[in-house]
Amino acid sequence: MTKKQKRTLLRILLAGLLLLGAALLPAEGLWKALAYAVPWLVIGWDVLWDALRNILRGQVFDEKFLMALATVGAFAVGEYPEAAAVMLFYQIGEWFQSVAVGRSRKSIAALMDIRPEFAVVLRDGEELEVDPEEVAVGETILIRPGERVPLDGTVQEGSGSLNTAALTGESMPVDVAPGDRVVSGSINLTGVLRVRAESAYENSTVARILELVENSAEKKARVEGFITRFARWYTPCVVIGAALLAFVPPLFVGGWTDWIHRALIFLVVSCPCALVVSVPLSFFGGIGGASRAGILIKGANDLETLASVDAVAFDKTGTLTRGVFQVDAVHPREIDPDALLDIAAAAESRSRHPVAESIVAAHGGHIDPSRLGAVTELAGLGLEAVVDGETFFVGNGKLMDRVGADWHECHLAGTVVHIAKGAEYLGHIVINDQLKPDAASAIASLKRLGVKKAVLLTGDRKKVAEAVAEQLGVDEVRAELLPEQKVEAVERLLAGGAKLAFVGDGINDAPVLARADLGIAMGAMGSDAAIESADVVLMDDKPSRLALAVRIARKTMGIVRQNIVLALAVKFAILILGALGYADMWLAVFGDVGVLILAILNAMRCLLPVKERA
Ligand code: ADP
Ligand code: MG
Repeated sequence: MTKKQKRTLLRILLAGLLLLGAALLPAEGLWKALAYAVPWLVIGWDVLWDALRNILRGQVFDEKFLMALATVGAFAVGEYPEAAAVMLFYQIGEWFQSVAVGRSRKSIAALMDIRPEFAVVLRDGEELEVDPEEVAVGETILIRPGERVPLDGTVQEGSGSLNTAALTGESMPVDVAPGDRVVSGSINLTGVLRVRAESAYENSTVARILELVENSAEKKARVEGFITRFARWYTPCVVIGAALLAFVPPLFVGGWTDWIHRALIFLVVSCPCALVVSVPLSFFGGIGGASRAGILIKGANDLETLASVDAVAFDKTGTLTRGVFQVDAVHPREIDPDALLDIAAAAESRSRHPVAESIVAAHGGHIDPSRLGAVTELAGLGLEAVVDGETFFVGNGKLMDRVGADWHECHLAGTVVHIAKGAEYLGHIVINDQLKPDAASAIASLKRLGVKKAVLLTGDRKKVAEAVAEQLGVDEVRAELLPEQKVEAVERLLAGGAKLAFVGDGINDAPVLARADLGIAMGAMGSDAAIESADVVLMDDKPSRLALAVRIARKTMGIVRQNIVLALAVKFAILILGALGYADMWLAVFGDVGVLILAILNAMRCLLPVKERA
């Protein structure tokens, strides 16, 4: 609690006691009014003061003005206890609201815990403790047990295990050894690591995540826009209603005080705070709760879309499969198998495509970077590279057709990487990927959640795609797609009226991520393009998180809807009862403050963790 919140709480208690005292005092008439004016002023002087200032500025429909008017009016018609009580409960509601908002800020701040405080950098043989922002790419940093990894990098020396829970929601530690990538924000549990910094702090995973979560409040959901517009109309309408109620009926039936009293009830109920506060608070909670499970949702609008997704299209490589290929066979036509693998690995050595990384890994040996000339990546096809001064094409059958190499379809299973020197076919390498262990269950749980259609869109061979599709139970497969054909396929699904999410790893599919209703990227750990173009990022690369993300989104939207219905129903009921003379001020106070507090408490439920499986 802040100092101001503590002070308000004290004032609430004091005013409560004074109000009780006034009620026990056997005073009458003016004395009674004075006895109640004391708690009213103790709790409400700042509201009255602000209201006065706002009137001078021409803001007449703000809630402070409404409260001031309602309570002054109550005094005028002799409802002293109600006047003091309305002000007291209004302040209780305000207090509650500021604590709740502070609390949810803090829960985001708890996430901010992933921010590294310092980096230990090795310079001229000395260990220096510096701000992570001062470390340059290529410098060596030391990470001791218990310390947070300050920058993304590659382990050079030492081994250890990392706790990545704050980033991925995954509680199992990850072992790392020389050559492995470490991700900023994770915590080194054992062993001293010497790491080469691979990115500056502002481009590191941690900085990007923080930026993303901090900005999420700016992307408003449609319901939020609706509520803001609604509030702009609601309050003036109710106030006009109050004025009519106070002055029109008494002209015909008389009884001024009674009608003014009814009108005051209108004023108390006219404040839309329960809606205005609880809706963004719910989204805040949902987004915060999701990021604790390693699901980054970039904005309230994305959470809203996620809740209503009814078709999901998946990329294959790196999304449903691990993207780590094993080389099964090397089939050269005229040359030595090792020479073929050597050319392929040299050509692929700069690419970050999973196919490339696997071929380089299978080669295993050192590749002299000076052998490699110009390289052009051909998305969805492969690449063109100058190796040892000659031009080679490495990629799929489509690429061979393009360069006019004489190849033929031969293997039933596996992805085939063909190699040609100019138009001369040299042979191929057969590689195989494995499904992620949770890929099938991910699709099954989405289906259980009512997602109608699961589609596989891949640039890989038809045979491989169909084999994968069969194992996973997807409804539709489209294979051998170039990136722009993936966009077309997505557009066709969108035209069919589906609320479509596309799940990809960001390699060759950034355009589709941006085009779908909702782009979901695997692995913030990997591709920068993914985190940029996606709306939701699954930090631990597990497709099964998708179902969890949908459930969190639906729970949040459910709570938002409950709050809207609750607040509106109670307020309208009290307005009607008040106009007919059946509601008193106490009920009006409940309608305002009580509903506000209930809505806030309900919104806080969004922060509670959602279990992985229903
Ligand atoms: P996916 O849709 O399965 O993620 P991509 O669109 O990234 O696949 O690539 C489609 C196909 O293009 C791959 O299956 C592979 O045959 C070929 N390809 C892409 N990049 C490369 C590369 N660097 N080296 C060899 N082949 C590649
Ligand atoms: Mg891919």
